[in-house]
Parts: sequence; structure tokens; C-alpha cells
Amino acid sequence: MERIYIGMGSNLAAPDQQLRSAIEALAQLPGTTVVGVSAFYQSDSLLPGQPRYTNAVAALNSSLAPLELLDALQAIENDQGRERLERWGPRTLDLDILLFGDRLIDEPRLKVPHYQMHLRAFVLYPLAELASAHFLLPDGQPLSHLLAACPFEGLERMSQN
Ligand code: ATP
Ligand code: MG
Ligand code: MG
Repeated sequence: MERIYIGMGSNLAAPDQQLRSAIEALAQLPGTTVVGVSAFYQSDSLLPGQPRYTNAVAALNSSLAPLELLDALQAIENDQGRERLERWGPRTLDLDILLFGDRLIDEPRLKVPHYQMHLRAFVLYPLAELASAHFLLPDGQPLSHLLAACPFEGLERMSQN
């Protein structure tokens, strides 16, 4: 079993409901337990002119291999109507593997830790709800340092999931 953190985002077709459905789908994956879900946050889109996003992070324990998990996440995205028209375009559901235990993965289809997680407030603040204050990333950086360098900007924590 490894501890895995999944970043979730949606800005189309009832985003909060998309995230709730995704959490149910994650809980159905073989060999996998959802051990935590952060609050939902609203965030400004990275690209101008898109609806705001709902974001959250889920913590899993899973015995799936990294590429098996990626396949499963992409199947959930597709089931929930994900279309890939333009890079970073609006989407019903995005499921990214942020961290997979302590692993460093550099394969054509999968880079872990997620290449931009350290820059994204909508990833770091929800992650911090699930991981301890002393949590270290695989490169030894404390999560607290990443948070200190990433302003809580354009983010809004929702009181209810
Ligand atoms: P970003 O990666 O900047 O958040 P995105 O999530 O919108 O953008 P996608 O269209 O969801 O990008 O994914 C593009 C490709 O990224 C996927 O086909 C997948 O193979 C690859 N990928 C690489 N690393 C990861 C990861 N850690 N989690 C999910 N997908 C990944
Ligand atoms: Mg993404
Ligand atoms: Mg993605």
C-alpha cells in the first residue's frame, strides 16, 4: 500500500458535483481506499476567460501501480465527460497524481511529483489539510516552505463539500 495524493479540478457542468462523483469513483477502484478529502476550494482559472474552478485534494491508500492508477484516473475523467480540445481548456474533471509515496517517476505518460504542484495554491493549500505540518516532499522540501512561497491568492475555501 502506498499513500497517494490526487489533485482534482472541475470548471464545467456543476463542478462541485463532478468532484463528489469523482470521489465516489476513486473509492470504487480496486485495491484502493480513500482515506481523506480536503475541503473544496474555488480558484481563478490559470488562463483568463474561463469559469472559476472547484478544486480539492484526495488522499488514497492503494496497491495499484502508478500507470494502472493513471489509466484508472483517465477512465474516470472520460466517464465524466472530459474532452481534450485545447491544453488547459475548461474541463468537467481533471485528476492529477500529485504524489505517489516517495516515488520519483519520470515516464512519458507520468511525471511524479506533479511538475507544477509547488506553484499552485489550489493544490498546496488543500494538500496541507491532509498532510502533517512537517510533511516532506520526495526531494526533501517541507510542504510548509512551499506554502510560504505560494500566496493564498485567488482561492476561496468553501465551508461545505
Ligand atoms: P496540468 O498537467 O498542467 O495540470 P492538465 O492536468 O490539464 O494540465 P491533462 O490534459 O489532464 O493535463 O493531461 C495531459 C497528460 O499529462 C496526460 O495524458 C498524462 O499522461 C500526463 N501526465 C503526466 N504526469 C501526470 C500526473 N502526475 N498526473 C496526471 N497526468 C499526468
Ligand atoms: Mg491538471
Ligand atoms: Mg490532468
